[in-house]
Amino acid sequence: MRSINTAYAGLAGNYLFSEVARRVRVYKENHPEADVISLGIGDVSQPLVPAVIEALHEAVDEMSRAETFRGYGPEQGYAFLREAILKHDYLSRGVSLDADEILSSDGEKSDVGNFHELVGEDSIIALTDPVYPVYEDSNAMAGRGGVHENGRWSSIVYLPCTKENNFHPALPEKRVDVVYLCSPNNPTGTVLDRTELEKWVNYARENDSLIMFDAAYEAFIRDESIPRSIYEIPGADEVAVEFRSLSKTAGFTGLRCGYAVVPKKITAKTADGTVLHLHDIWLRRQCTKYNGCPYIVQRAAEAAFMEPARTQMKAVLAIYQGNADMMLKTCEKLGLEAFGGVHSPYVWLRTPGGMDSWSFFDLLLEKAAVVCTPGVGFGASGEGYVRLTAFNTPSLTRAALERLERVLADVRS
Ligand SMILES: *Cc1c(COP(=O)(O)O)cnc(C)c1O
Repeated sequence: MRSINTAYAGLAGNYLFSEVARRVRVYKENHPEADVISLGIGDVSQPLVPAVIEALHEAVDEMSRAETFRGYGPEQGYAFLREAILKHDYLSRGVSLDADEILSSDGEKSDVGNFHELVGEDSIIALTDPVYPVYEDSNAMAGRGGVHENGRWSSIVYLPCTKENNFHPALPEKRVDVVYLCSPNNPTGTVLDRTELEKWVNYARENDSLIMFDAAYEAFIRDESIPRSIYEIPGADEVAVEFRSLSKTAGFTGLRCGYAVVPKKITAKTADGTVLHLHDIWLRRQCTKYNGCPYIVQRAAEAAFMEPARTQMKAVLAIYQGNADMMLKTCEKLGLEAFGGVHSPYVWLRTPGGMDSWSFFDLLLEKAAVVCTPGVGFGASGEGYVRLTAFNTPSLTRAALERLERVLADVRS
């Protein structure tokens, strides 16, 4: 009989989102008249901005003429895009990088889910709990998980993020090789400030560890003093790889574009002690397994980094931030404990009366036809929370919050 990779065979099913979908389906079957509003999904609702669409059309037309047609492009992306990213995302914030250190892709999930291939097979991996599941699953697929018991992998180091520690993960007790950090955070919506980021950069420098920094939501940061990039911390370019996406910031969830920053200063040792540069190995890996983000998408992405798209995108972001504000205001009015939502499209809501995540999910679905995401699905420390997203339209968000208000009034009376 053919055999299957045991690391893949040992994976748990994607329980969280399939179970949410299953419960919503059952509810709809039993209540065909109900109009369900989702504050659950992490997908955007607003269309691409006009300047991005224009760039896309232009690039499509270029593909129709022999003189301007493009076939295979550079695996790491065209220089025009990497230079636009450098100028607008980094130089503008005083971070100097080389455009070669930026490698574009078909979205951040591909990068943050593949980058672990570069580190030694038996590396010790640290993750926050709750966590964006891609970091955990991709390392488990590589065989770094050990045994899966009670929702956790035996070989992975989990760093709980709770209200007691302000959702700031503590440094691991024993040395880890790799730590994944996500700020602004999915799912908690909280952010790591300069002091917290310095703590991690110092840790990585002292321990020869690697930081995988996920900055998918940097555009939601409203306070200028909070770093948007880990490279705003001195020395981070020797220990941190940064991943970014145009999905949440520019509405590219369907178009697909992201990028990894791999500074040339980051080195790692082979088993026999030879020192290699992660940048060279990542480029080598991409050239073998990947053929680049589509040209037309890279032109659309380039436009997204320039005016007038930037101003247009600010207006879209303001819609989502307005939704998050509405959520926080409603929670306050109802006396619900809520976190995040300021520098992030996610509100991390403490369930009332000590309910567990799934019970509160069921209550909201049954009584209000509102869908949220149970916090426990992101890790054991998410128990007793649900995640609400600000990505729906303002009118549906308002309607969902009015229903939440009514349900709580009923429950409490
Ligand atoms: C949405 C998201 C991404 C980006 O995914 P894409 O593949 O670029 O769409 C990355 N990290 C986190 C934490 C996310 O929530």
